[in-house]
Amino acid sequence: MDFELSPQQEQIKKAARQFAEEHFPDHAREMDEEEAYPHELVQRAAKQGFVGATLPQEYGGAGVDLLTSVLVAEEFNAVDPGLAGAIGSVDFGTEAILQLGTEDQQQRFLSGVAEAETITGAAISEPEAGSDVAGATCRAERDGDEFVVNGTKMWITNGTVLDHMVTLVMTDPEAEDRHDRHSLLVIPSEAEGFTANKITGKLGIRASDTAEIQLDDVRVPEENLLGEPGEGFGYIMSFFNEARIGVAAQGVGIAKGCIEMARDYATQRRQFGQPIANFQAIQFKLAEMATKAEAARLMTYKAARHCDEGQPVPEMSSKAKWYAGETAVECADECVQIHGGSGYVKEMDAERFYRDAKITEVYEGTKEIHKLIIARGLLDQIG
Ligand SMILES: Cc1cc2nc3c(=O)[nH]c(=O)nc-3n(C[C@H](O)[C@H](O)[C@H](O)COP(=O)(O)OP(=O)(O)OC[C@H]3O[C@@H](n4cnc5c(N)ncnc54)[C@H](O)[C@@H]3O)c2cc1C
Repeated sequence: MDFELSPQQEQIKKAARQFAEEHFPDHAREMDEEEAYPHELVQRAAKQGFVGATLPQEYGGAGVDLLTSVLVAEEFNAVDPGLAGAIGSVDFGTEAILQLGTEDQQQRFLSGVAEAETITGAAISEPEAGSDVAGATCRAERDGDEFVVNGTKMWITNGTVLDHMVTLVMTDPEAEDRHDRHSLLVIPSEAEGFTANKITGKLGIRASDTAEIQLDDVRVPEENLLGEPGEGFGYIMSFFNEARIGVAAQGVGIAKGCIEMARDYATQRRQFGQPIANFQAIQFKLAEMATKAEAARLMTYKAARHCDEGQPVPEMSSKAKWYAGETAVECADECVQIHGGSGYVKEMDAERFYRDAKITEVYEGTKEIHKLIIARGLLDQIG
């Protein structure tokens, strides 16, 4: 497999890093402390083409491939994971609209996203259904040419700022197979009965908006049904193949940022009359961080390439997502360790990265669920 980046990819990667270094440091600490969504920065990123870059040009996107968007996410996350998360998720859910939407639906739901005039989301999780996606009970009942939706969606990224969200709803509770009970509906936030309550007190990625969403008799026109009824579970699994690579990219970027921070600190901090980078114990930490980050990067690029070639491999997405998440957490831990006491306080970015890293092991499928997917693939090959 060719991992050589094209000149255009190199250029976009460099531009993303420049943008992040120019604009993130002014906002990162403040947005983290205030748990505030960075509206202005999101607009600025959109003007530079960093929002919804994979969207086709006819919808205002740059039409880049998934690997290119991975490169952008990596550079953004290396500078600040919270702001990177807010910018990177403006178009969350649009993958499903692109895959399943009719031309009319794509026109209605994708327009304005790349300009960040429209913010989207994907509402799958519920208070009682997280890892068990098929256990979702948010109910959509047909009433003439509308669906009436009732239920609660939990942990929804962009929940209080989004314009519409791709929502997993239960349309056929009687279906024999629990994987045939769901459908995907695009629900606008302006609909009557839609209430978003911001979730505060998050450990990390606090600039990214997260909400609990209450849906009370929300009426949604049947034109907002994506794909076929009853196929929602399968659609979400296919959506995850791509979306999880985005989280793997976050992990790779966080690891990269931690390595850079740790290296810089280790060469500048002196103990016993010399830079701590001279000590083999510190060198070993840096070497291990760099090696794991490189392995995670290659897996993530490979998983993205599979998708770009139209042949996503679920086990590969899971391997990349699990390993990149774990690597991010390990690198953030070692980064704090190398900073000693200074890494333990908010004045140093290492503290924020340590908190931000953890999410990459939780959302878009926990690491345990990814190991199950990998193991299942392996056992299926034998069976
Ligand atoms: C900041 C944030 C943003 C999020 N954004 C979104 C979003 O935009 N849209 C959305 O739909 N969801 C979102 N989520 C939800 C996220 O995807 C879920 O939190 C995640 O899938 C885990 O579900 P859960 O929290 O219900 O944990 P649970 O499923 O209850 O899991 C609890 C623990 O049990 C383990 N476990 C569960 N089942 C098994 C099993 N079969 N075998 C082994 N271990 C198991 C898990 O790995 C975990 O360690 C977000 C979450 C957070 C924190």
